Amino acid sequence: MPLTEKSEIKATCTRDNPIGTHLCATPAEIVRIYSTSGTTGTPSDIPLTAGDLENWITGSARSYGASSVGAGQRIVSTYNAGPFVAGAALAAFDRLGLSHIPVGTGNTGRLVKAIDLLEPEVAALTPSYAAYLVEWAAEHDFDLAGSSVERLLVAGEPGGGEPAFRAKLEEGWGARVTEAMGIGDIGPSLWGECENQDGMHLGAHGFVHPELIDPESAAALELDDRATGELVLTHLRHRAAPLLRFRTRDHVEIRTSPCPCGRTGPRVRCIGRTDDMLIVRGVNVFPSAVREVVSAFAPQVSGHILVKPAAPGVKQEPPLPVSVELAPGATADDSLAEAIRERLRELLVVQARVELVPPGTLERSEYKSKLVEVE
Ligand SMILES: [Zn+2]
Repeated sequence: MPLTEKSEIKATCTRDNPIGTHLCATPAEIVRIYSTSGTTGTPSDIPLTAGDLENWITGSARSYGASSVGAGQRIVSTYNAGPFVAGAALAAFDRLGLSHIPVGTGNTGRLVKAIDLLEPEVAALTPSYAAYLVEWAAEHDFDLAGSSVERLLVAGEPGGGEPAFRAKLEEGWGARVTEAMGIGDIGPSLWGECENQDGMHLGAHGFVHPELIDPESAAALELDDRATGELVLTHLRHRAAPLLRFRTRDHVEIRTSPCPCGRTGPRVRCIGRTDDMLIVRGVNVFPSAVREVVSAFAPQVSGHILVKPAAPGVKQEPPLPVSVELAPGATADDSLAEAIRERLRELLVVQARVELVPPGTLERSEYKSKLVEVE
């Protein structure tokens, strides 16, 4: 069976049928139409039947339930219910019996006040925003690590599973971090990590079938332990606009070792988006992987990086320019830049030109971080 590309769906959208020719339900059956957040490219409209919506919520509830949050706990969330698919995941918090305090995106004042006064045990946010809040708290003398929050549920972008980045979040919040991942076209929070923190389990088991492919040749790969490739997903029970072998552009690593939580099936860790991937003299480089390598140089670095490809497009000539932000109090010295350069070469097989920049120079995000900027 052939793969489905997002561009193929887009090509079938017309004024008369803005969803695309994969629309399988009658207008009367459709109870909700969400939009993908469109990290890359134009957003798509995602129709759902009542059954589709129910399955989405069940899958999301399983993913968040894997993180061992549940009835009796308070959760503060920073995702906007609004038009986006992530809104459906918020219904999973109800399903789990959590007491939900939605504060929405980009309102740090309200969030901090909610944490301070309502004392939630759990917070749901993007890893970028979680990192931003660690810095914000330090600047505003707010004791985030001593707050009521003991669990962070991060989702929305890669990064929550990078060990150094995660360690920084856990220290700054005094909370354990687990991540979830979905994709708008297929469903929200399809995957969720358990307390063992070693990759995400498929919460949408029975609703979605996962496969792994080589992103270049599109050949199917075995879901072997430590195998890496692009995740391809197939709807099994979706009715309104089902997709078969949909290319997610998410590049993942598989884990198959038994998980102490008892959940079975392969787990995934997201390495990065194929859309962000650069090819530096034949070598695939994910900006999120660059950040992971650089973050290990904490406490000398802040963990913020910006890859600045010299030319537009995917293919780049070395050295790849990378700005690395210093931690407050750290000084720029050539041996640090050299050590980072050497580590990137060793671990990612990429020749980089590392520029150390002063603390606070790189842009912070209250939603999702931009890791690449064309000069
Ligand atoms: Zn587990």
